[in-house]
Amino acid sequence: YEVSVWLHRLNIVATLLVFAHVILIPYIVTITPFMTLFFVYSGVTAVMYLYYHFGKPLLARHGQLIANKKLAHSVTELVIRLNKNAQIHPGDFVYISFPEVDGFKEMHPFSILRYDQAQRELVFAIRNWGDFTAKLDKIPVGAKVKIDGSYGRLSESIKENEGKHLVFIGSGVGSVPLISLTRSLIDKHKVSFIRVASKQEDLIYESDLQDLAVKKPNLDYASQVGRLKENQVKTIVAKNRNSFYIVGGSTPMMVGTMKLLQDAGVRKADIYGEKFNF
Ligand SMILES: Cc1cc2nc3c(=O)[nH]c(=O)nc-3n(C[C@H](O)[C@H](O)[C@H](O)COP(=O)(O)OP(=O)(O)OC[C@H]3O[C@@H](n4cnc5c(N)ncnc54)[C@H](O)[C@@H]3O)c2cc1C
Repeated sequence: YEVSVWLHRLNIVATLLVFAHVILIPYIVTITPFMTLFFVYSGVTAVMYLYYHFGKPLLARHGQLIANKKLAHSVTELVIRLNKNAQIHPGDFVYISFPEVDGFKEMHPFSILRYDQAQRELVFAIRNWGDFTAKLDKIPVGAKVKIDGSYGRLSESIKENEGKHLVFIGSGVGSVPLISLTRSLIDKHKVSFIRVASKQEDLIYESDLQDLAVKKPNLDYASQVGRLKENQVKTIVAKNRNSFYIVGGSTPMMVGTMKLLQDAGVRKADIYGEKFNF
């Protein structure tokens, strides 16, 4: 990974050489409109690059890890307390890093499961996949956290589809932003939430969601182990006319589910999801 980062950094050297090369060609320098465009374009790019590298880190939020526990064999729950309150929409994600813990200094994106504004607490449920996520259990409670964000358009996409019934389909940790949206919307909106996972234990927060469905008549909740079959998707679509669908999961799950929804007659514009690709 570090080799690939350094190879990408060589782009800066290449760009500077191209810049110097252009301004050293006499007949090009005499074409004023081109040179104006060239300098404006290069200037804007340079300012954006410098802001991204030196300005943006100064704006990062800070907090502290206050709880770290296993939810399932390969899913960890982290609770972070922010130093200052933040404006966070349900379904949003943030980039986090642990600047004082070796191996955790690089920012990674994670959806926010819950934000408790009064306590300034952010809760995450994170699948232990690779270099950063597999060793999360080793991060000690009390560790400093750097946070960039929040980002995401899930809440916004719901506002843009006001009046439609909401159907959420989530798989594994891909259901994290959908749980957050469900909790925030359920008092005012009808929501159908269908959750799948490859193993029973990966249906994290299952009893919480079942309790919520009992308490809130607006929530129609169902879960199962194993993917949704074509006929199940057709039944969901038949039951939920004039609906806006949000899908969350791995990229193959999202692509597959979105295709099944379209095959069952849902318009592409009525389906949305934010991929977990990083
Ligand atoms: C907007 C957004 C929100 C996200 N929210 C969450 C969340 O709430 N919970 C969560 O657990 N993750 C979430 N992710 C994914 C998470 O950011 C990555 O899994 C994590 O950064 C991987 O880092 P790593 O160094 O541990 O894995 P890497 O070392 O980069 O990868 C190791 C191996 O794991 C595989 N892998 C890594 N990530 C994934 C993935 N997402 N799907 C399938 N295979 C993968 C890779 O193919 C690779 O083989 C989110 C990603 C995005 C973009």
